[in-house]
Amino acid sequence: MADQEEKSRSLTRRNFLKTTGATALAGMALGAVPLTAGEASAAGDDLPAKWNETADVVIVGSGFAGLSAAIEARNAGAEVLVIEKMPVHGGNSIINGGDFAAAGNKLQKEQGVKDSPDLMFKDMMKAGSYLNHPELARMVADHSNEALEWCEEYVGAKFARLNFHGGHSVKRAVQTVNASGSELVNKMLTKARALGMKLQTRTRLVRLLADRDGRIVGMEVRRNYRFPDEKSGQPAFIRARRAVVLASGGFSQDVALRQVHDPRLTDRFDSTNHPGATGEALLAACRAGAMDVQMDWIQLGPWTSPDEKGFGYVPLFCERLVGYGLMVDPKTGKRFFKETGNRKERADAIILIGHPVLILGDSYAVPKQVFPNALAKGMEAGAIRKFDTLEALAKGYGMSVADFQAQVARWNAFVEKKKDDDLDCMIFPDARPTVTPPFYAARLWPRVHHTMGGLVINTDARVIGFDMKPVKGLFAAGEVTGGVHGAVRLGSVAMADCVVFGRLAGRNAAKEKA
Ligand SMILES: Cc1cc2nc3c(=O)[nH]c(=O)nc-3n(C[C@H](O)[C@H](O)[C@H](O)COP(=O)(O)OP(=O)(O)OC[C@H]3O[C@@H](n4cnc5c(N)ncnc54)[C@H](O)[C@@H]3O)c2cc1C
Repeated sequence: MADQEEKSRSLTRRNFLKTTGATALAGMALGAVPLTAGEASAAGDDLPAKWNETADVVIVGSGFAGLSAAIEARNAGAEVLVIEKMPVHGGNSIINGGDFAAAGNKLQKEQGVKDSPDLMFKDMMKAGSYLNHPELARMVADHSNEALEWCEEYVGAKFARLNFHGGHSVKRAVQTVNASGSELVNKMLTKARALGMKLQTRTRLVRLLADRDGRIVGMEVRRNYRFPDEKSGQPAFIRARRAVVLASGGFSQDVALRQVHDPRLTDRFDSTNHPGATGEALLAACRAGAMDVQMDWIQLGPWTSPDEKGFGYVPLFCERLVGYGLMVDPKTGKRFFKETGNRKERADAIILIGHPVLILGDSYAVPKQVFPNALAKGMEAGAIRKFDTLEALAKGYGMSVADFQAQVARWNAFVEKKKDDDLDCMIFPDARPTVTPPFYAARLWPRVHHTMGGLVINTDARVIGFDMKPVKGLFAAGEVTGGVHGAVRLGSVAMADCVVFGRLAGRNAAKEKA
């Protein structure tokens, strides 16, 4: 067993296709290779003689998706165990920026922003290059505001401001009061615990186990696991009387797996994700007969800075400034891409340029738009710099002063008339020309941020197998799934996705026959 695990972790492109081969097999799924639920565990032949632990619903992962599922499964009367491989709960959810897209939300209404689930659905599909599974995108758009209201009214999380993210037609994201997903995830955890959910950290899913009918009935885990040492901890078996919910997140930190799907993404690209965002739980599901989809759509965040680590503070500076300030290539001093374009468009444009670019704003736009803490911390880290004049800013980044000033003047003319003739950037009604000193700027270079691909699910959050039928006893939600976002996930839609499908997965898992 340890060998099998070892093999799956030492992935090269060749041995991935030989050992796991989920993607390769997908094309043959209905043909000669009848890989369906349960075959990986020899259709029930290697179920343990004794289970170490049992719960009605066992959930893998303690982020937004897992905890939403836990709350709803508890409320539906199931005994719930959440396992988490890391020493702390929360995954990417706890480090996220706290922006939640919800069509028709309260803050939009207060500020006179007209929106609808239809418009959100259209935005998601357009950004996703129409590769999104429309019925899944529809679910997220239609239930986004209901999910947000549940987070506020039932879970008790607080959201304070309305934000814009590139690729949306309107300002649609409400942000948590502390500009972090921790506001929501911690309150979800408190709620789930109060309802009687059990959480076991340092417990890593190794393998899903199926009975003779191909129904997922439990799993092999390693308890007291010490990330990232795969041999650490002791094997144990957990039985799921009703169902398993996979909510194990994405694989942005799994360099081998991401390279299988997008060979450009070597370790020369950092990731914004928590270290545990690796894909072994997803691969375990594939080995148990689950099908994967669109694994090669891996999103780079165009707003990270090479001048700070991880996600950092620059994304919170950059994203608030788009539509209020300009982005330039320091080699030419000129704009090169629509600042309010979606993540893929912008990341691709920066990679094509081949070196870090700049975003800047003045003393009208920056205090108005940027969270004070993000500005202060970004400056403290040296990633955001302040200049008294545009000339000093140009010199600070080695740009031709004349070219840069001409470009700022041109941008300002577009801002005055609220129309960008050059690149079609959206300019917000309250934007003003960039003229008020001091000026602030940051360098941008993309990092691996989100994996759009993952397990195939249906609108009941049931995982679909290679026989195109639901894998019995297996549900999934959140970033471990694929299809919701298609080619490009719009900023702030992951939170809506995780909560909408997490709740559904929990409710439906609890309804399965024990
Ligand atoms: C820095 C950052 C900022 C972001 N900001 C936003 C934002 O503002 N708005 C937005 O919509 N989206 C944002 N995103 C994306 C969003 O946060 C994620 O897509 C979302 O949190 C994923 O939630 P999840 O529940 O699917 O997975 P996660 O929150 O990642 O949770 C999965 C958990 O499963 C655990 N796990 C994995 N494998 C195993 C295993 N084998 N056994 C046991 N446990 C396992 C992991 O350790 C992890 O804790 C951001 C992402 C990052 C990284």
